[in-house]
Amino acid sequence: MEGEELSGAQLIAQALRDQNIEYMFGIVGIPVTEIAIAAQAAGIKYVGMRNEQAACYAASAVGYLTGRPGVCLVVSGPGFLHALGGMANATINCWPLIVIGGSSDRNQETMGAFQEFPQVEAGRLYNKLSVRPSSLEVIPAVIEKAVRTSIYGRPGSCYIDIPGDFVNLQVNKSSVKYVECCLPPPISMAEHSAVSEAASILALSKQPLLIIGKGAAYSHAENNIRKLVDLCGLPFLPTPMAKGVVPDNHPNCVAAARSTALQHADVIILLGARLNWILHFGLPPRFRQDVKVIQIDICAEELGNNVKPAAILLGDINAVTQQGLALQKSLPMNYYTVFHHIREMIPKDCILVSEGANTMDIGRTMLPNYYPRQRLDAGTFGTMGVGLGFAIAAAMVAKDRAPGKRVICVEGDSAFGFSGMEVETICRYNLPILIIVVNNNGIYTGLDANSWKEMLKLGNPATCVPPVSLLPNSHYEEIMSAFGGKGYFVKTPEELQNALKASVTDKQTPSLINVMIDPQSERKKQEFPWLTRSNL
Ligand code: ADP
Ligand code: MG
Repeated sequence: MEGEELSGAQLIAQALRDQNIEYMFGIVGIPVTEIAIAAQAAGIKYVGMRNEQAACYAASAVGYLTGRPGVCLVVSGPGFLHALGGMANATINCWPLIVIGGSSDRNQETMGAFQEFPQVEAGRLYNKLSVRPSSLEVIPAVIEKAVRTSIYGRPGSCYIDIPGDFVNLQVNKSSVKYVECCLPPPISMAEHSAVSEAASILALSKQPLLIIGKGAAYSHAENNIRKLVDLCGLPFLPTPMAKGVVPDNHPNCVAAARSTALQHADVIILLGARLNWILHFGLPPRFRQDVKVIQIDICAEELGNNVKPAAILLGDINAVTQQGLALQKSLPMNYYTVFHHIREMIPKDCILVSEGANTMDIGRTMLPNYYPRQRLDAGTFGTMGVGLGFAIAAAMVAKDRAPGKRVICVEGDSAFGFSGMEVETICRYNLPILIIVVNNNGIYTGLDANSWKEMLKLGNPATCVPPVSLLPNSHYEEIMSAFGGKGYFVKTPEELQNALKASVTDKQTPSLINVMIDPQSERKKQEFPWLTRSNL
């Protein structure tokens, strides 16, 4: 509308609204009362508090919880000073915040005006940006810049100083420089080379530890981080405010053994946490002298603080975790990847039969049971060869007493060999058992096809093939198809998911999924190796 007039207070409120600001906390008084009233009129929720410090803490927590800064509104001088604690707290926490402070009228500056104080200068130490708009016309642009600065890069607090005479001053709408809502923060990814470097460091580690910080919580990376923890079988430790990014009751959570975990880790993935006092600066005696740190942060200046990292990944945690997951997909699967997908896709109330060495051990932690008497495995005697017999029994009993209940038999390739011919029995009686063979070409560990060929060149296989090796890439699934059941040979997570989906949905036909994994894939190192001493 031509000629429409707006007050400074209305301009501020409208500009905040245009930047999708939802919440304002503060204490009114000269000269900001009109700003609070205008904010309410613009649809911003205003909460009047009793001290500016509490108001500022509240506004900063809104920023952490929603990713959009809350606003703290304060009066000049003491009101502004009371809010400094909140600004510092937000900036040190890396939380976005906007503080709007009234200040004395411009024409009384240096004269000893009411509550006169150099607020812009004082704000500089505590804020990413501390500014006063030069005129009413630029208020929307300054507010956009403050909101953008508070959420782009490492989040933090921004201060906007409003001279008292701006609040009721009128301006013609047509002369105002309107600015649209800033774009959501750009999402940056780490260099590819840094991601592969990190992956190879991780692959060689014996005692990796993932430390999850509140930066990970802020970046909403929970789904990707949960996948990464599952797929890599990573033990993890949350910092206090990162608790819940992966649930505290996840089997890989080592919070109860925090000191031990920190002390023994040879590789630490630092995901949105700083190596400050909370993490003992990453230094001995709390950490190993030779610990390799893979550091992921959105703030370049943070990388390398206190400990020289082995790999630095500059980027948004959610995006970088996604990059890590994508890389994981291109590698041969390991036990954790396979069990993750099995766990996601099998019915919770199925009867699980399991035998093998690593397959059964890792399956114990990765494949939960929810009901009693639904897990049958190598048992007290540690017997190999019980699996298919147990599965047949379970399927017979289930048929009579719990029709429709699935029997899923998770076998190591070696274990499967002990009673593989019972597949014919399964097919003869048409028992819809799903057998999953986790195939690593051997007992404990095996050889890949190339190493196998090289090995044979050395001479008589009976003198040179390692006793733990079995024939590489054996097509065990063909035993199932030989008798009329469905056989699947899978090498990738996608193929595994598809095969699982098909065999779980088909409740009539026996099936066997032969899952090839990295022959060198192993379980995580044990703290008490008395049972595995002889393992290669
Ligand atoms: P904690 O207190 O949980 O240890 P800190 O506050 O020390 O966590 O560390 C949080 C880190 O997260 C900061 O270094 C910050 O730069 C970083 N950060 C914040 N948001 C992101 C994000 N989206 N992506 C990556 N890093 C982030
Ligand atoms: Mg095996």
